[in-house]
Amino acid sequence: MRTAKLEALNIEFPLESGERFYDDGFVESVSEHQRGLDLQYADKEYGSEYESDGQCYPARTFGLFPKRICHIYYKKFGDDLYNLFVRAHEETHTLDYFNRLDLLEGKILRESKIKIKLRKIGRKALRKDDVEIIADIGGIHVMYQEGIIISATYSAATEYEKAKKIYLKALEDKTGLRLGYSILKNFAKNIY
Ligand SMILES: [Zn+2]
Repeated sequence: MRTAKLEALNIEFPLESGERFYDDGFVESVSEHQRGLDLQYADKEYGSEYESDGQCYPARTFGLFPKRICHIYYKKFGDDLYNLFVRAHEETHTLDYFNRLDLLEGKILRESKIKIKLRKIGRKALRKDDVEIIADIGGIHVMYQEGIIISATYSAATEYEKAKKIYLKALEDKTGLRLGYSILKNFAKNIY
């Protein structure tokens, strides 16, 4: 059986018949890579296309009707931890696309002992911003497991702040403490 292996999140899940997942890794140029994929799939019939761009660290998920094919790829930054965050962010988009956010909810519950209902975030209107909030929560979780809460952000600032708020609120609910962002910083081993 084919599986999708998400290395930053450390999640693996089975794919349905016809579904494909490719982690294309770090690429020199995101736009060049995107053009390559456009050419690769140009003669195929698209079902729906899911695309994160602009504010997102670029990733794309192609829906080739009736199959689903997902590629993720990302730009490399000079910082290993930030690269980890970016990968986890894109991998969370992948889970979202394959309707497997339950796997990340379970992981967050096991590892951080907090309950975050990812699938409830913004699902009424399904705004693109909400998709980014969900993806950032995946990134934040991985960083938190590393002992880090990123205090600054590199892009998608509004969505990142919302994601951080949701994560911190869940931690506060667990501990019964009003941690607040500045206090929580003291718990982190490293601060960005
Ligand atoms: Zn994104």
